[in-house]
Amino acid sequence: MTDATTTFADAAPGRSTAGTPATLEAEAVSAWFGDHKVLDRVSLTMPAREVTALIGPSGCGKSTFLRILNRMHELIAAASLAGRVLLDGQDIYDRGRRITQARRQIGMVFQKPNPFPAMSLYDNVVAGLKLNGIKATRSGKDDLVEECLTRAGLWKEVKDRLRQPGGALSGGQQQRLCIARSLAVRPRVLLMDEPCSALDPTSTRRIEETIAELSGEVTIVIVTHNMQQAARVSDNCAFFLAEQGTPGVIVEHGPTDAMFHSPQDPRTSDYVNGRF
Ligand code: ADP
Ligand code: MG
Repeated sequence: MTDATTTFADAAPGRSTAGTPATLEAEAVSAWFGDHKVLDRVSLTMPAREVTALIGPSGCGKSTFLRILNRMHELIAAASLAGRVLLDGQDIYDRGRRITQARRQIGMVFQKPNPFPAMSLYDNVVAGLKLNGIKATRSGKDDLVEECLTRAGLWKEVKDRLRQPGGALSGGQQQRLCIARSLAVRPRVLLMDEPCSALDPTSTRRIEETIAELSGEVTIVIVTHNMQQAARVSDNCAFFLAEQGTPGVIVEHGPTDAMFHSPQDPRTSDYVNGRF
């Protein structure tokens, strides 16, 4: 049901835009920028329908890892990779598997909200359809826009001004618009790279509410520097660290409660308690 020619009529019952949440597994992922190795054999299972938080100091490779999870790092000329990434057991890097398919099934939301500023809210939401070969009628698109904006917690605020440009929204609303845009192609996984770090506390809370609503419907992987946020929104947590010029590794991962209350590694304990 996720091939490039599906229409909304084929979608899962209940929510017409919901894809089937998938488990994402990284197996021994290493990454280089030219000669500079930035990740060393990182393995992590991000279970379907759950929220996995990636935490760790700046520069330890979290964003690089996130981009590898949907082949976005291939847009950076110097980046190279070893290891595998499995989406429900299927290697997204297999020869013959299309990069566009990986990116469609695994959506991404960035730190800085990036809606198309001159494009209407409506067109922002449906922007990915054509690009991904998804056909929809006018009324199908209307339904989709309402549904995705509702799921992103934005519908009530904007339903009377769908023709306004994306750039006219506040920062927090723009970020929720970006979430709605990602949802429109029925991703099975949503990757979020510090989605709140450019936002005020109220907008941050709204995004966290949206994440809570979406959890269970789509697998979520979120990078955050905010330990309270990681504790609030995630089921599982992975602590990344790159010590003294060595490439980033996962020091410890597991259920969020255990990571915060009974970490096994003293470095995890120091980090989650704000000691470095
Ligand atoms: P984090 O998100 O944890 O802060 P990044 O994944 O952004 O870490 O960066 C990991 C390492 O990779 C850093 O040393 C950074 O300088 C390097 N790096 C990131 N992006 C690039 C790039 N496009 N070209 C070269 N080096 C990069
Ligand atoms: Mg980063």
